[in-house]
Amino acid sequence: MLPSTAGIAWKLMHNCAATEEKIQRRGVHLASMCGVCKQQAENIHHLLWECPFAKGIWEWVASKFRFRGDMEDMQSAVNKAKGSSTLIHHMWIGAVVGGSVSIWFHRNKVFFEGDDPDPNFCKKYIHSQVLVARHSSNGFSRDHDDPVLRAWGVEGKRRKAPRMKECFWQLPREFQMKVAAV
Ligand SMILES: [Zn+2]
Repeated sequence: MLPSTAGIAWKLMHNCAATEEKIQRRGVHLASMCGVCKQQAENIHHLLWECPFAKGIWEWVASKFRFRGDMEDMQSAVNKAKGSSTLIHHMWIGAVVGGSVSIWFHRNKVFFEGDDPDPNFCKKYIHSQVLVARHSSNGFSRDHDDPVLRAWGVEGKRRKAPRMKECFWQLPREFQMKVAAV
């Protein structure tokens, strides 16, 4: 994961982002409406998990990973990969963090630049984060992961089948001592 992405995700998770709610608490009065859906008050939980725009993004991501059910917050999202192979797990974390960050970037594009909501902006960003996670992962995939890997356009990483190998261990010779470097 790129350090900048991780940093923004950390801020989002810790509620540090300057959402309208926080700005208002400091006495600056702005329209309190979510600029993306224009339906509800904006706060970070709404933006990332409750906003119909965010829900649409998460549904798209989950269906590509073949996960079911709602994602109500970061924890329930992360938990979806429980029991998955290590490679899928790493790709999923990339998708969840990339998803949160992209929804935040998207919100800023709409809020500051007046752009129309565009799910493709988030989808492209998430795809790139999943690819980064795939390439930096030291994890392995299983046979049944193939449809998910294909959906993201990446190849799996199979653990090599264990093979028996002959090996010998020799006693140290006289006057030889094993020294462990610390
Ligand atoms: Zn909204």
